[in-house]
Amino acid sequence: MPTPAVRIQRTGGPEVLEFTEVEIGEPGPGQLLVEVAAAGVNYIDTYQRGGLYPVDLPFVLGLEGAGRVTAVGEGVTEFAAGDRVAWQGVPGSYAGRTLVPASSAVRVPENVTDDIAAATLLQGITAHYLVSSTYPVQEGDAVLVHAAAGGVGLLLTQLAKAKGARVIGTVSTEEKEQLAREAGADEVIRYDQVDFAEATRKLTDGEGVAVVYDGVGKSTVDGSMASVRRRGMLVLFGNASGAVPPVDPLRLNAAGSIFLTRPKTLDYTATREELDWRAGELFDAVAEGSLKIRIGGTYPLADARQSHEDLQGRRTTGKLLLRP
Ligand code: NDP
Repeated sequence: MPTPAVRIQRTGGPEVLEFTEVEIGEPGPGQLLVEVAAAGVNYIDTYQRGGLYPVDLPFVLGLEGAGRVTAVGEGVTEFAAGDRVAWQGVPGSYAGRTLVPASSAVRVPENVTDDIAAATLLQGITAHYLVSSTYPVQEGDAVLVHAAAGGVGLLLTQLAKAKGARVIGTVSTEEKEQLAREAGADEVIRYDQVDFAEATRKLTDGEGVAVVYDGVGKSTVDGSMASVRRRGMLVLFGNASGAVPPVDPLRLNAAGSIFLTRPKTLDYTATREELDWRAGELFDAVAEGSLKIRIGGTYPLADARQSHEDLQGRRTTGKLLLRP
């Protein structure tokens, strides 16, 4: 059956996104057919569109969404038509309908809306694994969060705060500074105006932070390395400003025997139990109001191009959604 979708046939700038119709078949074994209520826009979508992360073409973009199951394939016992589900890490989500492996779907609690569910999962799971597994944040740790008013940034700030960290955020505008503070950042550095590594050292009495969560990449990596305390950790988890060039291991030695890691969500949702644990804690926190989800913009599916332009133009805060 035909469904509206946003597809690329070649890689490039936002102009290669085409709003079109694609055929979606019946759900195969282990799959759900879902009517998409909202699709999440993520920075990774721009890497796939631009060619930094290679995909097979043609490709329907979008890795995340929420909606209602309309049919299930053979062997699916845990979901049925009518169920509300959310998913992340599943290509083809910028569409009116899509096929989702049951193994990647999670049930959306009654008191969480489709929009909030679509806005929570991918960036939320990322923030969750970063603070609880990659570098398990301890009470009293000083933590540096780049792009603290972004989708992942606002969630990271809140989750690190909830673990008792002292959060130092970086942002590029006054509005973003305000949002980072509202999310709980103790200090906010305007890294567009000052040397953030110097400012971080000053704020930590020269010691540096226990961990830097850096999703900005190319433009921040050197400063991030200079901000980590002795034997601390630099977590490079993205490349919003561009890919990071190769790092000589001796630089980790010179920076104070620091640890460097480059994680991805797939490796932190490797089992059904792990996915359910992270998604469950996030949805519980959202439902009880301790985790706030900021939807910074909602665009019609046909305007996906605008959402990419805004995201890459650093004009957005929180989560962007597409509405089929
Ligand atoms: P954001 O909403 O955080 O948007 C990116 C932000 O990065 C911008 O708003 C901007 O904030 C900052 N930025 C700094 N320099 C640039 C630049 N040159 N161009 C564009 N933006 C810049 O996006 P997401 O929350 O979707 O993703 C954040 C990062 O997390 C991305 O790198 C993404 O790839 C990564 N990620 C990694 C995952 C993983 O498992 N490894 C999973 C999910 C996301 P400001 O204006 O304040 O500088």
